[in-house]
Amino acid sequence: MTDDKKIQEKISFSAIRKNVDCQNCGRSPLVALPPNYPTVDIVCQFCSQTAQVKSLRLRRIDSGLPNIITAAAWGPQKKRMNAGIFQPLYIVTFYGGKAISILYISPGVQKKYQKILFKKRKPLPDYNKRAGWQGFNYMIGNLPKKSLKLLWRRKH
Ligand SMILES: [Zn+2]
Repeated sequence: MTDDKKIQEKISFSAIRKNVDCQNCGRSPLVALPPNYPTVDIVCQFCSQTAQVKSLRLRRIDSGLPNIITAAAWGPQKKRMNAGIFQPLYIVTFYGGKAISILYISPGVQKKYQKILFKKRKPLPDYNKRAGWQGFNYMIGNLPKKSLKLLWRRKH
């Protein structure tokens, strides 16, 4: 991960901790898990629900969300989906180095729309140093608008 990404991630976690409650139990705080903890990023200190976090840089402060969010490795995600496991997803948008908004996609929404939400990417080509590695995207543009919940927005 680049330093830039690390900084962005740190800002995301602190924006979540400061501004939103756990969507599972309604309490707080949601805190960062140790770096490189597999598949999840934050945990609720009350109910222990874990969740994933994605940070997104907006092109303009008033840009809407993009239709596609790049995610992690497809293999582990597919295995969890086959087992019926979906992690809550918090999306933090950024502009000018500041968190702008926090959105949420519940496990229920992910399960209901899994066929249109998760799309595997092509495996990386042979010339890539991680040849054969396959990721996936969240196709959030495919979701009905009301299934994306806005939890917080920065006041200007
Ligand atoms: Zn909780």
